[in-house]
Amino acid sequence: MSARPADDAEILALARPDIVALAPYEHAVFAPTLERLHANELPWPPHSEPPDTALHRYPEPQPAALLAALASHYGVSTEQLLVGRGSDEGIDLLTRAFCRAGEDAVIICPPTFGMYAVAARIQGAAVVNVPLGKDYALDDTGVIAALDPSVKLVWLCSPNNPTGNSLDSAAIRRVLEAARGRALVVVDEAYSEFSAQTSWVGSLAEYPHLVILRTLSKAQGLAGARIGAVIAAPTVIRLLRKIIPPYAIARPASTAAEHALQNSNRPIALARIARVCSERERLREALTRSPWVKRVYPSEANFLLLETTNARSVLDRLQAVALLARDFSGKPALGEAVRLTVGTPEQNNRVITALECST
Ligand SMILES: *Cc1c(COP(=O)(O)O)cnc(C)c1O
Repeated sequence: MSARPADDAEILALARPDIVALAPYEHAVFAPTLERLHANELPWPPHSEPPDTALHRYPEPQPAALLAALASHYGVSTEQLLVGRGSDEGIDLLTRAFCRAGEDAVIICPPTFGMYAVAARIQGAAVVNVPLGKDYALDDTGVIAALDPSVKLVWLCSPNNPTGNSLDSAAIRRVLEAARGRALVVVDEAYSEFSAQTSWVGSLAEYPHLVILRTLSKAQGLAGARIGAVIAAPTVIRLLRKIIPPYAIARPASTAAEHALQNSNRPIALARIARVCSERERLREALTRSPWVKRVYPSEANFLLLETTNARSVLDRLQAVALLARDFSGKPALGEAVRLTVGTPEQNNRVITALECST
């Protein structure tokens, strides 16, 4: 699919003029049928590696086979998709392409994923906070009120990290309507596979300023491969492809991702996701009985946010059985919060014992 010319003009007017005008780095042509004497590589594979790994060769910048696999996995076209080193790279590229240092701003809705603000600060963009409201619901009225002309990106994370809840889709839609022609709205769906909510990917045709982040790091179990996707109108993707570092995707990473996305591996991946969701509910139910836990927030992700009586003692009890959870205490609106990732059944049993959840 392709955005209408009017949409293109609106998107390009939001972008940094110097990025729109930028001549991107011209990487060596990728032509697998030809013998490569144009990229200053050694002609032999590493002698310690199997001969087919081809690690002496630069990888394809946006590996075509991986792009095709991701496009089919997410139900979009390859022109709507950028592969990056995790969605972290997507966050960085979006910030750099749309925010001028010292002039532009992003809206974030804390408590939320930290990289949105970090990327903005690296770029010299202002960070406008519109905190989540009661039960960590999106304050769409607040976001819309904060949409001044300096705001180029609105970061929405659903299901949200670290709170675990999905943002209300009607509220997201109101933000999308208000931001049309004014700012990009990015919905980070890093945990979407663990949620019953439908992906915003289906709304791309309606909203040329909608951007979706997906990753293979969480539900697909490939965090070490560092593969994430930015899904957006082709105009947005073309801008990001201009500024992604050359040869960003290491070949062992793209090979691993392609393999994971093969249809024959789907049943295993789906079964693992289902297992995590059922373990999450078992753990949640048990933790409500812990004397150390005041509240377990509902979660549509692969982690639980706990309001504890004392975060330090909960972390110590977990550490005593060799488990590490994430301390969120002292952060605004989080109190004595601990974020606990759902583990294997055996690890979850250890959590239940360590936090004295017996009936
Ligand atoms: C983990 C996480 C990411 C980063 O994922 P990578 O693809 O591994 O970079 C992005 N967004 C959220 C909300 C996350 O929790």
